Amino acid sequence: MARPLRTGFFRLNAMRSLLATIVLLGAALPAGAADARLKDPGAIGARSVSGSLNFFSIEKEIALGRQLAIEVEKQARLVDDAILTEYINRIGQNLVRNSDVEFPVTFRLIESDEVNAFTLPGGHIFINTGLIRLSGNEAQLASAIAHELGHAAARHATRQATRSDLIEAGTLPLAVIGGWAGLAAREVATAAAPMALFNFSREFETEADLLGVEYLWKAGYDPGASVDLFEAVESTERRHPGSVSQLFRSHPLTSDRIAKTEKNIDSLLPARGEYVVNTSEYEEMRERLNRMTVKSAEPQVARPTLYSK
Ligand SMILES: [Zn+2]
Repeated sequence: MARPLRTGFFRLNAMRSLLATIVLLGAALPAGAADARLKDPGAIGARSVSGSLNFFSIEKEIALGRQLAIEVEKQARLVDDAILTEYINRIGQNLVRNSDVEFPVTFRLIESDEVNAFTLPGGHIFINTGLIRLSGNEAQLASAIAHELGHAAARHATRQATRSDLIEAGTLPLAVIGGWAGLAAREVATAAAPMALFNFSREFETEADLLGVEYLWKAGYDPGASVDLFEAVESTERRHPGSVSQLFRSHPLTSDRIAKTEKNIDSLLPARGEYVVNTSEYEEMRERLNRMTVKSAEPQVARPTLYSK
């Protein structure tokens, strides 16, 4: 029995080094070229920003995303207001048209005071009403959506899942892994715990910041609004610790991030004569949201301060 075991061991080691090589190739070789592409806002829509190493075909990613979105919808309280959802969708789709994303994207509003937004695989973007409240104008709100759209366009969720599979694969016997096809299937099987899919690495957050500010600019918004939103998030979390989702803060809110974004704006984005900062519609939507919140909180009118602006 020693021989088959030894063969198995050898094969596992060979597989490990193959995987390591692929990780290195995937991470190192195209980095320079990919970086240049990412930093060329003139090529938005005509360039690929989705990396080279991904076990998931676009079809598989869309199927996985649909499954996860159903789970989120079961657990979250979605805003059921046609005017508000249409408004968010319109801002979102305008950004989509000015992005690199390769599949249809949907936007949904979650009724929650927690400041948060997140992106599932396959272009399902969820935005908490708390984020709308935190934003100071339409450009700031759009900047958060544009950042999430950056994750979608760069296919960060499935690329990250691919990476963690590779790391895991190096420590598991091949029989358990079940081959390359099995890896993708297993990812779907463990979809009940999707945190790993959108708790992105710092590298991916930096990339989404860059793409987001480019999409914001391309759509005609003031890209500086993204810096304003970072600052608003930071000061809100300072004043009310815990009001910003852990997930949203896992985007590291450091001065470094703000400085990088300012540098990207100055060095990559040609200045425009005019930018959209705010719209009267945004203000109307804010009021609508306030009225809705007060209405849904009516049984608790004895504690109105909770819902004051
Ligand atoms: Zn992010």
